[in-house]
Amino acid sequence: MTARPVLVLNAGSSSLKYQVVRPDTGRSLTRGHVERLGSDEFAEALRTLSEELAREGIDQTSLAAVGHRVVHGGQQYVSATLVDDDVLAGLEELVPLAPLHNPPAIAGIRQAMAAYPGLPQVAVFDTAFFADLPPAAATYAIDAELAHRLGIRRYGMHGISHEYVAQAAADFLGRPLGNLDQVILHLGNGASATAVRAGRSVETSMGLTPLEGLVMGTRAGDLDPGVLLHLMRVGDLDLDELDDLLNHRSGLLGLSGIQDFRDLVTAVDGGDASARTAYDVYCHRLRKYVGAYLAVLGGADVITFTAGTGENVARVRRDVLAGLDRLGINIDPERNDVRGGPARISTDDSPVTVLVVPTDEELSIARQVAALLS
Ligand code: AMP
Repeated sequence: MTARPVLVLNAGSSSLKYQVVRPDTGRSLTRGHVERLGSDEFAEALRTLSEELAREGIDQTSLAAVGHRVVHGGQQYVSATLVDDDVLAGLEELVPLAPLHNPPAIAGIRQAMAAYPGLPQVAVFDTAFFADLPPAAATYAIDAELAHRLGIRRYGMHGISHEYVAQAAADFLGRPLGNLDQVILHLGNGASATAVRAGRSVETSMGLTPLEGLVMGTRAGDLDPGVLLHLMRVGDLDLDELDDLLNHRSGLLGLSGIQDFRDLVTAVDGGDASARTAYDVYCHRLRKYVGAYLAVLGGADVITFTAGTGENVARVRRDVLAGLDRLGINIDPERNDVRGGPARISTDDSPVTVLVVPTDEELSIARQVAALLS
């Protein structure tokens, strides 16, 4: 694997996160983010970034490539892909599947091609880890011809994180990835759960879009589709209003007015009843998924918490897995009082090992880029 560092770009709807990372050692040479970007300000952000790299003494010619996080790869892009004009056109065609997430990634790639013409540009997809989900898990029970024509299936997201954490958990335990059945709970502002058998995903909570599954900062997760019909028919919401409601005004925010988990916990402790409800709905949904995925796998060796909330909020881990000793899950309260990790938080004799493992999406991207280039 190349020792040359990879510039990793993660372009969101209003921010650009960057990191220069050595794929072999995981050492980060510099990182940062540019906030509150308008759609036409990526060029400006990349100029800022280039100046920053120069200040840090990082010469463009020392870089192996630029790696871009792209949320949706559709059915075409099932692994890291070297970007050329054809791939860019292909990514444009996928925009209807990820209207909020793919356009900034595409803008970031175009600007990086202009700013770093000598470097390979590689797209790394959040859906790729789920490309071979078993058909029974990937298929929605709707009109099959219509679904086929419109590419409607469960794609899954956060794959860059889930894939990384599955390997990191195996490494931490000193056991081969191929011998482990794992449940991974990625709990950040977005949240998803994945069941992993021998390093391959067999079920995941996000679907066609990142709206399905767990309760998130601003997204409801699972919802009776009849709710949408009702909102249109009786609530008089149009398409854009529904889109905004589901993506930006639901989840923890919709229930309590609070999106950030730190603030939510403070409000719960202060006796805020709607914050309590939001917290309980969040934990209940998660618990339901843990149970479902234990059944999908026929029991798990490892359950791992990761991302901002998963790594830092001990009470969520405690409340989600409390009283599950009959399923082989025993948390040690003292061990659970940890932030970050990697750490084991189950008792020594717990049949299911429970871990906290920090995710590192940038390193995961850099490694996938390096693997492609070699
Ligand atoms: P992420 O999307 O992985 O960056 O995670 C963001 C979420 O993690 C937000 O809801 C944060 O409030 C939560 N989070 C991050 N750090 C902490 C912390 N130290 N304590 C509690 N929650 C945290």
